[in-house]
Amino acid sequence: MANPNTKIDQARPAFKTSGLTKIYGEGDTAVHALRGVDLEVPGGELVVLLGASGSGKSTLLNILGGLDRATDGTAHFFDQNLTEMSDNDLTLYRRHHVGFVFQFYNLMPSLSARENVELVTEIADDPLDAGEALELVGLGARQHHFPAELSGGEQQRVAIARAIAKQPTVLFCDEPTGALDSTTGRQVLRVLQNVNDNLGTTVMIITHAAATAAMAHRVIDMSDGAVREIIENKTRLSAEEIEW
Ligand code: ADP
Ligand code: MG
Repeated sequence: MANPNTKIDQARPAFKTSGLTKIYGEGDTAVHALRGVDLEVPGGELVVLLGASGSGKSTLLNILGGLDRATDGTAHFFDQNLTEMSDNDLTLYRRHHVGFVFQFYNLMPSLSARENVELVTEIADDPLDAGEALELVGLGARQHHFPAELSGGEQQRVAIARAIAKQPTVLFCDEPTGALDSTTGRQVLRVLQNVNDNLGTTVMIITHAAATAAMAHRVIDMSDGAVREIIENKTRLSAEEIEW
């Protein structure tokens, strides 16, 4: 497994899938979550995934993030075939390359913001300092606060600090603003934009808020387990310009 900080060739796609298929269950109760997805995601982009509930967005992200396995087809992360990796290599892939942010922040309530981030920095190879990661999300002054003392948007920013502290190649965000109002949601999007701009991290964001697509380099629109359309934005809006 490559060192996470080895310079990665950004000219090649970070992800390339071919015929990616996921079927949950069997027989009469089988659910076709992905029906042969062909996709390329260039490294270093900010990508937004849109689509109705149940269209397969989370399934796609979970397979690309090494949390779930495909039923058929292939998914490559640069030259590594995720669909053929052993469980152990998939664990190493997640540990070295992948950060995840979910709708609910999953912070440890008994630990401070800083201690939540340190849970990750203690086991990473070449992590940011926990305080530095919190600075990057605008919470340098709140390091010693507990989750209950932080707003929803601030808690989500701690979750982002935790995810980026290990300097992942890719940051996957599954409805990161789903539980937030428009003002705090925009602050979270600003942080994700900063991560992409300043750290060069490939960022993939699932959202129901279609307006968010305007800040992406690339928009992937999913429908019924398939990619319906991929749009490359010629001009992008900043997080602050997004109309919620
Ligand atoms: P989205 O994120 O776009 O809402 P998902 O990828 O979560 O969609 O789900 C796609 C389809 O797969 C849905 O029909 C969902 O019910 C089904 N599904 C997702 N996860 C599972 C699972 N663990 N077991 C069975 N069905 C699942
Ligand atoms: Mg989902």
